[in-house]
Amino acid sequence: MSSIVSGEAGMRRTGGSASAAPIPLGRKPAGGAFQEASGGVSASKKTACIRTFGCQMNVHDSDRMRRMIRDAGYAEVHRYEEADLVVLNTCYVRENAVDRVKGHLGELNRLKREGRVKKVALAGCIGAAGEATELERRYGIDLVLGTHNTYELAEFVGLPGMEETFTPELPGTEGEHAAFVTIMTGCNYVCSYCIVPAVRGRMVCRPMENVVEEVERLVSSGTRYVTLLGQTVDAWREDGRRFCDLLERVAEAAPRVWFTTSHPSNMEDRTLRLIGEKATIVRRLHLPVQSGSDRMLKAMHRGYKSDRYRRKIEVFREAVPDGTLSTDIIVGHPGETEEDHEETLRLVADCAFDAAYVFKFSPRRGTEAASLPGAVPEKVAQRRFMEVLRAVESNALHNNRRKIGSVQEIYVRHGHTGEGKAIGETWSGHAVHVPTGGAEPGRYVTARIEGAGPHVLYAGEPSGPPR
Ligand code: SF4
Repeated sequence: MSSIVSGEAGMRRTGGSASAAPIPLGRKPAGGAFQEASGGVSASKKTACIRTFGCQMNVHDSDRMRRMIRDAGYAEVHRYEEADLVVLNTCYVRENAVDRVKGHLGELNRLKREGRVKKVALAGCIGAAGEATELERRYGIDLVLGTHNTYELAEFVGLPGMEETFTPELPGTEGEHAAFVTIMTGCNYVCSYCIVPAVRGRMVCRPMENVVEEVERLVSSGTRYVTLLGQTVDAWREDGRRFCDLLERVAEAAPRVWFTTSHPSNMEDRTLRLIGEKATIVRRLHLPVQSGSDRMLKAMHRGYKSDRYRRKIEVFREAVPDGTLSTDIIVGHPGETEEDHEETLRLVADCAFDAAYVFKFSPRRGTEAASLPGAVPEKVAQRRFMEVLRAVESNALHNNRRKIGSVQEIYVRHGHTGEGKAIGETWSGHAVHVPTGGAEPGRYVTARIEGAGPHVLYAGEPSGPPR
């Protein structure tokens, strides 16, 4: 990766000075579309649209940016044509993600030329990458932000300056039923295929007291579900305290807690046991393995062998017998042989994953793997991808069917599936479709599981009122 960021905290700014003056935005003409998109935005109100690509870190950063634009007096709209300011919060992990963002930038550039959009900001991982300069020039972007300085958007829209992305002054989704809380940023690993260390930098851990204070504040404002977030959350540490200590404190402060994502080298047995012991922790572990072949794990610089991963899973299964386990797997990394692939299938069978994000290797410019020899032909990679996916789905279906007939307390996460059902989550981390029974997101219903697919459980009518 070429130079990641420039200037203070990685900010690059165009189309103006670095002063704290708000951007001069015009006013939208009165019009029906405006009202409709925003649920009643006044014609004189400034409007902004945030579009998010990629991982939960980005979703979380977008939440923060959303609060900034609201505090600065903007109404949020969902269509570019209706927005004075458009923020694209981008992902750089996969090549086609960049192409997608270029498509959006092209459209925004046209809308700007037509005078329908006033300003465009590019944030997230692409904003932190070397090629942002070229995008900025080609598409006339007004503000380019790296991943460590999303707070600079506050200044851009006229709020006082802020200095780091996870200060208490800049909470995530306070007041909502579920919130992400960042506990660390960056990553100290150098996985062959991953751009994250280049664009997010080395690990920085947030102080425990600062995290706990934010969690307490969120809970007192109505948050019922806290997800601790970071690229390798289990690597968190501070003055001899480790992730398990932080998780325990948070699990005492919040009524429902989960964390993602973890690294097998950092995952301690006592953390796995804590998941089974603390009633407020969702019994779901996401532990990316990437490959079942020791040879490939070495080539990827993952820092563990497949048997060590298996041992972690044994501890988890024993400590959390009804827990769910998910992982990430990459097929077709350069140099992957048929034997390596067979080893991955063996590991998938041994661990009986409940879910997996399976990726076909796609080279990312700036990563070591992009220039490694031994590319796997597309047809071969596609076959391996399907074989791993089918093996995971068959395990998942088998595991999920065992839930049929059980009665579960279900946390309602999202509104509707379109069939009058809400999407919820059991304490063991299974996704469930459940008739709402009037339950709003953030409430619990109790219902019997009546059906199961590889990705979701289906519950019957809830018994009793939501709580
Ligand atoms: S541990 Fe995760 S974020 Fe860090 S380099 Fe490896 S894949 Fe990327």
